[in-house]
Amino acid sequence: MVRYDAIVIGAGMSGLAAGIRLAQMGKRTAVLERHYLWGGLNSFFKREGRRLDTGLHALTNYVPRGTPGAPLTKLLRQLRIPYEALELAPQGFSQTVFRVGGELVRLRYSNDRELLNSEIARVFPAERDGFARLLAALPTFSDESAEGFAASARTKLAEFLRDPLLIEMLMAGASYYGCPTERDMSWNDYGVLFRSIHVEGMARPEGGVKRVLDVLRERLAAEGGELRTRAGVKRIVVEQGVARGVELDDGSQLECECVLSSAGLVETHELCGLESDERDIGRLTFVETTTVLDCEPRELGHDATITFFNDGERFEYACPDALVDLRSGVLTCPNNYSSKTPLEEGCVRATVMANYAHWKALGAERYAQEKSRVYDEVQHTIAKFGPDTRLHARWSDTFTPLTIERYTGKRGGAVYGSPRKLRDGSGPVRGVHVIGTDQGLVGIVGTLLSGILIANRTLLAPQAAP
Ligand SMILES: Cc1cc2nc3c(=O)[nH]c(=O)nc-3n(C[C@H](O)[C@H](O)[C@H](O)COP(=O)(O)OP(=O)(O)OC[C@H]3O[C@@H](n4cnc5c(N)ncnc54)[C@H](O)[C@@H]3O)c2cc1C
Repeated sequence: MVRYDAIVIGAGMSGLAAGIRLAQMGKRTAVLERHYLWGGLNSFFKREGRRLDTGLHALTNYVPRGTPGAPLTKLLRQLRIPYEALELAPQGFSQTVFRVGGELVRLRYSNDRELLNSEIARVFPAERDGFARLLAALPTFSDESAEGFAASARTKLAEFLRDPLLIEMLMAGASYYGCPTERDMSWNDYGVLFRSIHVEGMARPEGGVKRVLDVLRERLAAEGGELRTRAGVKRIVVEQGVARGVELDDGSQLECECVLSSAGLVETHELCGLESDERDIGRLTFVETTTVLDCEPRELGHDATITFFNDGERFEYACPDALVDLRSGVLTCPNNYSSKTPLEEGCVRATVMANYAHWKALGAERYAQEKSRVYDEVQHTIAKFGPDTRLHARWSDTFTPLTIERYTGKRGGAVYGSPRKLRDGSGPVRGVHVIGTDQGLVGIVGTLLSGILIANRTLLAPQAAP
């Protein structure tokens, strides 16, 4: 039987990063991926000669090369990836737009933090000082205090800001870009997410997410790690409470000293043959539409890169009681990054909250009909906040919570995983460690860091199996 020091389940961002780190330290490592492509939530596909990203809106946490102490700088150093290899094209500007009483209230921001400061002063002049105090108090990546995880972000924001509309606007982006819980999040998570968007910034790798994935795959191979695709893990072999290896979908078995799993908390429990708690399945999932245009979004009057939009004064981040919630969402225009190589076609992506159970209950025929109807409704909605794609669509695609579930294995298509996180990565049995989304870090940079963090801890920990 083939024996590895470490087996990593899943070749998403966290799995690839963990695999590189373990291989760097001389561990015989295999990264096992159920699908034929790697990347997980952040992957790509080809249709009619076009290569399209499945996850990437923006690489958050963007900082200029060498910025000390920044998450991006740390992870590139740990993985021995030169900054230039990612070829990051910075955003132009992004915005949060709320429609209140028929008027659009807009806050713009960019990779220059001063833009958001000046926008707060313009739109909410009375909140200038409170906002400055908020920025100074925001938790960072390394804040792991129990109080910070127990405190509510909304309550903390209200300690610094008095205008409820500003609080709602500042919740929208952070929620959409990483919150696994409905309506509110922990103060520590808020700090990390807010910084990743507003204090650091956003960029897009030239050529899309494939660039990042190519770099990671090459690094893994260069360090001697193996990437095995079409290698789904059916179960983790556990003997006397200790992980001894894995059994693959084809029935073959691999032995190992330890397993790092990016499958998710509930999913990893199930792989170990343990009962899972339904309350640990995340409820937040999305529908995303992609429209390829016959023109640039700019020609339709839209030059923002990312737009978090909301219809109304209150922002409700929760699983809707319908197929989708069209009251809020995210609009992404990859053309509006400052790329050296402009995209060949215009493209607009729109993301809205969705209900997994409602999508799951549709039969095949109704599923196709509803997908098409929801696509139209989403385009109608975004025309209120951004470009009107309806007369310019050349090609379109829609993915639903079922697509997310199919390509990531995450139960319920839960984009940000379980509401319960295992911050120290300790899995359900000895020798199993949880990495990625359910360790508690999300997004591209977050999950790459999660893979590194838990791989480093695993390397320092005593061996699981005697
Ligand atoms: C629409 C959308 C847009 C997003 N946009 C952004 C963005 O712009 N910027 C950003 O930073 N983040 C974005 N994200 C979030 C980001 O994609 C995720 O947080 C991150 O990619 C999660 O990485 P992961 O490694 O934890 O998990 P995943 O990407 O879910 O990877 C897990 C992998 O494990 C594999 N797997 C699961 N079970 C098994 C098994 N039993 N055997 C073998 N393999 C298995 C899966 O197939 C998958 O490849 C977006 C997500 C979505 C859905």
